Amino acid sequence: MRVFVLNCGSSSIKYQLFDMTDESVLAKGLLERVGTDDAVLEHNARDDTCQLEVAAHNHAAGVSIILKMLTDKRRGVLSSVDEIHGVGHRVVHGGESLTESVRVDHRILDAIRENIPLAPLHNPANLAGIEGAMAAMPKVPHVAVFDTAFLATMPPEAYRYAVPNEWYTKHKVRRYGFHGTSHRYVTQRAAELLAIPVDKINLITCHLGNGCSMTAIAAGRAVDHSMGMTPLEGLVMGTRSGDVDPAIIPYMVAKGMNVQEVDKALNKQSGLLGLSEIGNDMRDLLAAANAGNDKAQLAVDVFCRRIVKYIGAYYAILPSVDAVVMTGGIGENSLPVRAAICRQLTRLGAEFDEQRNLATVRREGPITVDGCHLPVWIIPTNEEVVIARDTAEIAG
Ligand code: ADP
Repeated sequence: MRVFVLNCGSSSIKYQLFDMTDESVLAKGLLERVGTDDAVLEHNARDDTCQLEVAAHNHAAGVSIILKMLTDKRRGVLSSVDEIHGVGHRVVHGGESLTESVRVDHRILDAIRENIPLAPLHNPANLAGIEGAMAAMPKVPHVAVFDTAFLATMPPEAYRYAVPNEWYTKHKVRRYGFHGTSHRYVTQRAAELLAIPVDKINLITCHLGNGCSMTAIAAGRAVDHSMGMTPLEGLVMGTRSGDVDPAIIPYMVAKGMNVQEVDKALNKQSGLLGLSEIGNDMRDLLAAANAGNDKAQLAVDVFCRRIVKYIGAYYAILPSVDAVVMTGGIGENSLPVRAAICRQLTRLGAEFDEQRNLATVRREGPITVDGCHLPVWIIPTNEEVVIARDTAEIAG
């Protein structure tokens, strides 16, 4: 069974084609600058990567170009598009109505559309991708997998904000959470690696990429999460501030900025970039900090401190913690960040192991000593395989 996974952003399409008999990836790639005459397709199949410039005026055109590549005589891996049995789509916001993966029909498209006000940047691109792919492959089942779905099990004391009740009942103001597919993957994988049934495992999962979020997992289900109504809340991120005092917003407006400018600053000019004034890439910050740059060092310190604070908070609300799990580009690769976080968790029972940290780059394993009270594990995420599995199951 072949499953095609699509992740459509506003100007990009990421894709992977799976053979579900062994979950191997037959081809994958990225189309960038969708909406222009000079889009760039990077396609990888059979250990060979090629790049070409194409005209992709919209997502539908983009999907057609990718399908052409998949069936190309020389570089392709399919003899016909009919070999695809199901298409899985990443959708950022399912709101309160879409809380599990689902086969797409008109009713689901409408529900995704209704959630656009909650994710004005993401859901329109996801929709464009689904509609483009449905037009190109009208006969196969299309399945939507929501970033918010795994977090829909949060209880009201976790998802409600202490704001006027009507903000929730009338305007849907509540915590939804994001990166759910990644938190779900590492939860499943941690259960396998720690040999604990998934419905018994308690974890604190940390997705640390450009966007960063944490989830408290009790008995395999999400019970609290750091991102909020939007992905702005919680941890320090590449360009997002994470938690700030909301009174800062009217304060900066009084200083002469308008609300849109403050919003943009908090989303695009804050976080690691805002503090360091160097960039949003942890690699650059670590190199600069190493060379003695104080602002870069401060950015890394604030980043780690926020994570340690959330781990402490989740440790307090969970019945027990089998492990802290780190994933995402920073979690999988940034050794000094992992070390700094682990070393601040000594009182909670994490005993950091430097050798294990060095040995666990982009691979699974603990970075604490065996038998310590709070193990810390690295588990590379794989959101695409979760989407592919759900699609295979629903497509039947
Ligand atoms: P996204 O959220 O965009 O998917 P990623 O999960 O790829 O992002 O994470 C991006 C972050 O991971 C960047 O801050 C980058 O510096 C960091 N990162 C990626 N590779 C490495 C590496 N080899 N060493 C240190 N940091 C890394």
